[in-house]
Amino acid sequence: MDKGKIALVTGASKGIGAAIARELAADGFHIWLNYRSDHSAAETVFKDIETAGGSCTLLPFDVADGEATANVLNPLLEEQTPAVLINNAGFARDGILALMSHSDWNDVMGVHLGGFFNVTRLVVARMLKKRYGRIVNIVSTSGETGMAGQVNYSAAKAGLIGATRSLAAEVGRRKVLVNAVSPGFIATEMTEDLPSEQILPMIPLGRIGEPEEVSGLVSFLCSERAGYITGQVFAVNGGAHI
Ligand code: NAP
Repeated sequence: MDKGKIALVTGASKGIGAAIARELAADGFHIWLNYRSDHSAAETVFKDIETAGGSCTLLPFDVADGEATANVLNPLLEEQTPAVLINNAGFARDGILALMSHSDWNDVMGVHLGGFFNVTRLVVARMLKKRYGRIVNIVSTSGETGMAGQVNYSAAKAGLIGATRSLAAEVGRRKVLVNAVSPGFIATEMTEDLPSEQILPMIPLGRIGEPEEVSGLVSFLCSERAGYITGQVFAVNGGAHI
């Protein structure tokens, strides 16, 4: 991979995003590392990347806030265009629909769908001018199949799958490739409180996945070897949804 190329990874202070940032840095990308609030976790990822010989710029902003996103990204995009965008920032607010608050619905839509829109519309405009780009949206098994207690999260991730396919159709002629990676249960802060005795029987491989098992696929999709792949959804779920 060419040195000097930029990869913008949202939600990369920890978990899957941090693993993606580390791996893309090892692939030779300069990382624009977005996160929302955990400065010390982001500093740790920053130091790991620099210690391993890579380079990184920390970009704290809330992807759900269109104005904040534009205020940070627009000045940078005046100067440089990322070759890669990974839309990974997100969280769940689980609960049954009958009791779900408006804020639990809106916040989940805001971070996954709003975040995708706020970041991608700015970046893809630049990629189209450069006639090159790789966009990977991190979705979820919950967006592919039904999951009780996750109506908001499933709707957001299924929406992001739809956005992936339509954007791929829209920008393919300009050599901008758009795919989705769909993790199952992965060991991060998001899943640490889930009861493993209920989860493990749902997974044919019998274990929870590691963030690096997701980032390896993302790295491939951002490599030159993946130049004929667009509009697809790739599951990394240990067989939890087949
Ligand atoms: P995580 O460990 O909780 O990390 C979430 C990351 O997103 C953090 O860096 C957090 O930043 C950032 N973030 C959250 N809201 C944000 C916002 N509004 N603006 C910018 N950054 C924001 O979660 P994860 O498990 O790695 O999940 C990463 C992605 O994978 C999510 O989209 C999630 O839905 C998806 N996913 C996860 C699993 C799983 O089993 N873990 C399965 C399927 C899909 P701060 O902490 O600094 O605020």
